[in-house]
Amino acid sequence: MLNFSVAKFGGTSVANHEAMTACANIVIADPDTRVVVLSASAGVTNLLVALANGQSSEERIRLLSEIRQIQENILSQLKDESQVRSEIEKILAHIAQLAEQATTNSTEELSDALISQGEMMSSLLFVQVLKELNVDAQWVDVRTVVATDSHFGKAMPNDEQTQIQSDALLAPLVQQGKLIVTQGFIGRDPQGRTTTLGRGGSDYSAALLAEVLKAKNVLIWTDVAGIYTTDPRIVPTAWRIDSMSFSEAAEMATFGAKVLHPSTLLPAVRSNLPVYVGSSKDPQAGGTWVTREPQQRPQFRAVALRRDQTLLTLSNPSMVHAQGFLAQIFQTIADHKISVDMVITSEASVALTLDKTGSASSGTELLSTELLAQLNEIAQVKVDTGLSLVTLIGNELHKSEGVVKTIFDTLESYSIRMISYGASTNSICMLVNSNQANAVVNTLHKNLFE
Ligand code: ASP
Ligand code: MG
Repeated sequence: MLNFSVAKFGGTSVANHEAMTACANIVIADPDTRVVVLSASAGVTNLLVALANGQSSEERIRLLSEIRQIQENILSQLKDESQVRSEIEKILAHIAQLAEQATTNSTEELSDALISQGEMMSSLLFVQVLKELNVDAQWVDVRTVVATDSHFGKAMPNDEQTQIQSDALLAPLVQQGKLIVTQGFIGRDPQGRTTTLGRGGSDYSAALLAEVLKAKNVLIWTDVAGIYTTDPRIVPTAWRIDSMSFSEAAEMATFGAKVLHPSTLLPAVRSNLPVYVGSSKDPQAGGTWVTREPQQRPQFRAVALRRDQTLLTLSNPSMVHAQGFLAQIFQTIADHKISVDMVITSEASVALTLDKTGSASSGTELLSTELLAQLNEIAQVKVDTGLSLVTLIGNELHKSEGVVKTIFDTLESYSIRMISYGASTNSICMLVNSNQANAVVNTLHKNLFE
């Protein structure tokens, strides 16, 4: 293990010149930070996704000018914008050209080529911001390092190939003592085409790079000072958790806490890489360390909320005593590259929720008419929306006596559509009506935490 950190700055942290300067100061204050991984400036990826979906020429002009404006705000505050401006102009022209192509032929491949451009711009601008603070940084095109498969929109990194490329290209630069600035979220497939790792994937990129470079840790700088017991916008009395385990953090990320992309924990767990989450606007405020051995493992750790859940109920009387019914359903859903979340079965039906984080960068609807038609051939399908998933995260939840009674007592006055208990020792999931979700989170937090 080498004695340096990989730091990742999220979209709000690089949203404008002032925010970028705060990040640069964090890098300057911590000489151990040798690799910087950036998201696109806040809002840019959404605008690029809209362009990738194909737009009228009027709409394209509007979206492009919004993207330009975000870059312009940063450029105009640089002391010397000349060199980086010409690079940004080139990228903007490229975006315009791809966006036009997307109107006639919108493919996932084209989409990734387009939505990867946000990270290209933010990383170029950040190098100049550092330079103007007298820090010499080396810009690296992360696609020369992060190798992936060709699953556009949600590409899987090829760990071995990434290791080889990192050893050849990136590690030597770090060893020479260079400060590296590169992009999160994107990679390259074996044919040399740009891919993306799925929305929010920059955290994952940072953890991957830290792993292949054998860094001592990953610092995730975002807009909140760590991971909280629940979303403080829903429960103002929520508090920051100073130290938590990988498995607790993985459950939180999976079940809705937006601070960390769920895949971030894969390399971290694999390589026992501590992950820190802190606020780039307020680095002094402290943050959360996610490690293998946290200071404590309390029974109740946090409550996560994920809105906008889709519940599918599939019924078929011939499922009774039959074999292979579930296999057929899961295969059909898997063929559409969708991951399933909660599953409950009864005699002749199965109810399941679909996981949005499993979907592609371009944000195409999970439940396509094609998928529905295929499922309809297997069973009668009912689709429920307007649901939210509330997850209680903790430790040894399956063993603790009375946990379920406590939860049911606490939630007496709410209707719980589905509950999943026992599969994980770290979580209990409840599906509730979205209009009751905040109240359920509040009640759980109040009764179990405060
Ligand atoms: N820019 C990408 C997104 O908005 C990746 C990231 O920010 O992590 O999803
Ligand atoms: Mg993010």
